[in-house]
Order: sequence, then C-alpha cells, then structure tokens
Amino acid sequence: MFENEREELIQILKTRGIRNESVLAAFRKVERHLFVPEIMRFNAYKDVALPIGQGQTISQPYTVAYMTEALNPQPGQKVLEIGTGSGFQAVILSELGARVFTIERQFDLYNQTLKLFDKLGYKIAARCSDGTIGWTEFAPYDGIIVTAGGPTIPENLKKQLSIGGKMVIPVGGKTTQTMKILTKISEDKFETREAPYFAFVPLIGKEGWKE
Ligand code: SAM
Repeated sequence: MFENEREELIQILKTRGIRNESVLAAFRKVERHLFVPEIMRFNAYKDVALPIGQGQTISQPYTVAYMTEALNPQPGQKVLEIGTGSGFQAVILSELGARVFTIERQFDLYNQTLKLFDKLGYKIAARCSDGTIGWTEFAPYDGIIVTAGGPTIPENLKKQLSIGGKMVIPVGGKTTQTMKILTKISEDKFETREAPYFAFVPLIGKEGWKE
C-alpha cells in the first residue's frame, strides 16, 4: 500500500540532501501510514509533521531522516530515544540494526505505541517516564536522539552517552530550535556542530521545560 507515495517521499528526501543509503532503505521499508491516525493516512507520505493525539506530532520525514543520518547508528549499537511519540523514529533506528531504548512521558501514547511495536514485530525497549533523566539501567548509549525541543542539553543524557558516542538534540526556544550534534570526546569534553532551524514540540521534564 502507498508504494508510489513512499517512493516519491524518498525522492524528496534525496532532493533535500539525505544521502545515506541505509537511511533511505529504512524509509522505503517502514510504512509511515501505520504510525498516524487513520484519518491522516492519505497525508502520511507528505513531507510534513502530523498530529498523533495528546497534542503531539509525528515529526516531518525530512527531520527524522536528517537526525538519523546525523546519528548514523551502526548495527548492534545501543541507542536511546527520548520522545517515542508514534514510534516511527524508533522503528527507523531499529531497521538500521540499532538496539533501541525509547522513553515517552505521556502514558496514552506510550501504551498505544508499545502495542504497535508488538503488532509490527519490533523488539524495542520502551518506558513511560521523564526522558530528561535518561535510562540509567542500560547506559552508556552509543547514541542518544531527542525528538522534542528543550532549553538546554540535559546533563543526565550527557553522562549516559559513551565516550565516542553521539547525541542529536534540538535546543532553543519553545517553538524553534537549533539542532545540536554532539560527539563525546571524554567524560567532560564534547565536540558540537549545529544546524538551524527546526520546530519541535517542547521537551517537558526535570531538565526540560516545566509544564
Ligand atoms: N519520535 C517521535 C515519532 O517518531 O513520532 C516524535 C514524537 S513528538 C515530536 C515528541 C514526543 O516527545 C511527544 O510524544 C512528547 O510527549 C514527548 N516528550 C516530551 N518531553 C518528554 C520527556 N521529558 N520524556 C519523554 N518524552 C517526552
């Protein structure tokens, strides 16, 4: 279903600069229409964010592709995602062979997406809690990806990244943010590059925005 639409989306992603063949292959395989409410299915392959309920969104495909390409997870690596939402980003990471751990703070979304992972046969560890605290039991992570925009980079997440690991996180105001791509050089040293401008829903939590 929607094969032509999916292929058109791949062409859009290529035009916008996505080059990583594994990322493009994951987008070719994962059926985004299964991650959006039924009423939105015909818009699932447009390059736009869509509402998924609870005031939240499934990110724009280009943003998911950009962040995945920036993180560049290798098969078998441990990746922590903050902001499970629809589960689409987690599944893309899983298709790339990463061992995915994902945290969502809203129970209804967490519950709904957990069932979807199960139905689609993805082995993704999911938890309902404040992701700004991270998930210490499985740390350190080779990669951390944050899919909501916070005012700063949570210290807990910096600590839970392995040396040589990468974190991709939008940081800035409540409506627009700069994408920060960090590489951990040593326990307290990070190399950072930045890409403007992205628009995410707020990262709410202990080391995020207050409700
Ligand atoms: N990765 C998601 C996807 O593929 O659909 C994008 C989801 S949406 C842009 C961001 C999500 O982050 C929302 O579901 C929101 O509830 C969640 N969120 C916000 N703050 C959070 C926090 N501190 N911990 C965990 N999840 C959080």
